[in-house]
Amino acid sequence: KLSSRLQHIADRLPPGCRFADIGSDHALLPVWAVKHGAAVSAVAGEVNDGPLEAARRQVAEAGLSQSVSVRKGDGLEVIAPGEVDAITIAGMGGALISSILEAGVDKLAGVKRLILQPNVGEDFVRRWLLEHDWYVTDETIVAEDGKIYEIITADAVPGAAGLNEELYKQRLLQQGQDESDKSGAVLTKELLLMMGPRLTVQVGDVFLNKWNAEISKLENIQRSVAGSQLPASQKKEQELSLLIKQLKEVLACLP
Ligand code: SAM
Repeated sequence: KLSSRLQHIADRLPPGCRFADIGSDHALLPVWAVKHGAAVSAVAGEVNDGPLEAARRQVAEAGLSQSVSVRKGDGLEVIAPGEVDAITIAGMGGALISSILEAGVDKLAGVKRLILQPNVGEDFVRRWLLEHDWYVTDETIVAEDGKIYEIITADAVPGAAGLNEELYKQRLLQQGQDESDKSGAVLTKELLLMMGPRLTVQVGDVFLNKWNAEISKLENIQRSVAGSQLPASQKKEQELSLLIKQLKEVLACLP
């Protein structure tokens, strides 16, 4: 049985796809997906020897060596162009995920869907998707074992740039269209990249818990910066105080 985080990722695989799971660790996701018919074949990519061995063992034990190919390599270098139609990258920072996509951009031709689960730095991932015309079709937030994870799904569709523009613009213009939702008035594009253009449409407890905890963290940093004598600390403190104020305003207005 998969963890609920990995299950959410598996649920977003296009039916019958061939996919690559980059940074696969124990290859839990590819093994589950192929075993349960969510994918016809998979590549499990790993850059480190320990997880690579764990992946090989897992695949062999499941008897799936024919359909799950475990490969050693950095990021997308383990796949050939056109080899897969979906890619999952989960459990790493958003900056690393976007640098993996950037370094392997030539491998994305023919890929229809990216399912990305950054542990932190979700804004890096959203910005990369926006800049490379991947249309964000789904954002999901899940809590598991006291941690909160976001899963961002993006598709290569005709007119993706315009669809993304519309998606972001709609959130920024919400005020006035619906009296109960003033969030568009206080959202900025930067805040949307952090919080998610789809996650901010209808917020639930997990989203609120995440952002209340983030605000507390930022307030702690702000307090320690305020006590510092370093030359840049005043500017940093002002930036933090603005961000905290903006986040609180957004949370107060979200539907
Ligand atoms: N994807 C699994 C999950 O979500 O449960 C495992 C996540 S694990 C925390 C991150 C894995 O990514 C590690 O096994 C690490 O070796 C691998 N990794 C980190 N950078 C990588 C890269 N550039 N290319 C391939 N794998 C990488």
